[in-house]
Amino acid sequence: MIRTLPLTCSRCGKTISAQDHLYYQDDFTVQSFQDIKLICDDCIRAWKEKWQIASADFHEKNYVLTVTITLKNGTVYENMDCTPMEDTESVVTGEDIPREAQHELYKYYVAFAQKREAQQIKDCFFTNREGGKMSADITTVGGEQYDNLVFYVEDGYLKTEQDVPDYVMDGLVTAYKSYLAQEEMLSTASQPVPRMPQRKPMPESQWNTGESFGSGNATGGFGRQNRNPFGGF
Ligand SMILES: [Zn+2]
Repeated sequence: MIRTLPLTCSRCGKTISAQDHLYYQDDFTVQSFQDIKLICDDCIRAWKEKWQIASADFHEKNYVLTVTITLKNGTVYENMDCTPMEDTESVVTGEDIPREAQHELYKYYVAFAQKREAQQIKDCFFTNREGGKMSADITTVGGEQYDNLVFYVEDGYLKTEQDVPDYVMDGLVTAYKSYLAQEEMLSTASQPVPRMPQRKPMPESQWNTGESFGSGNATGGFGRQNRNPFGGF
């Protein structure tokens, strides 16, 4: 059956006079050729003109990278999920943006990544102070130095006596946690370590993978959330 597809722009409604190509919106909900969303040259031009990036601020939290983009026309897109693509040197966002803008965005991303790298903590040395306090000597990858940074833990939170940037605080918390873990390991190394239950061969039908096995687990102090105290089956 022969049908007609009217060449109408899905954005502005104007009739499109096509030369050698058509623009259309990539849309997975489109089931039929007739529902294809065509876009005229004028709308494409306006879209590209609109996507002139004035600034882009990247943020990373819990391994989720987002970006807030301000366009030269004043439009702000806040906290968009985004993915940097190294091979094409572009950043893909939830919003449809022109390729030129994706490349432009990548430059902002590289600057962000370099800064983030420089803010990583390279060295951190701890010293015990009186009154249960500690101090740290910190050097960042970028060469920033924070010496004699006195801190203490209150209500489960690490607090410093002087104000430090967030990235120093984050790095200090991470370094101190691993310091404590190491201390704990060293102090238990000299004492007999509670033994893990031994594996006993048993018929497959008796393997229990449910919670009912957990009595020794909850109070066992092995620090595991593993539901199966024997693990690994
Ligand atoms: Zn149009």
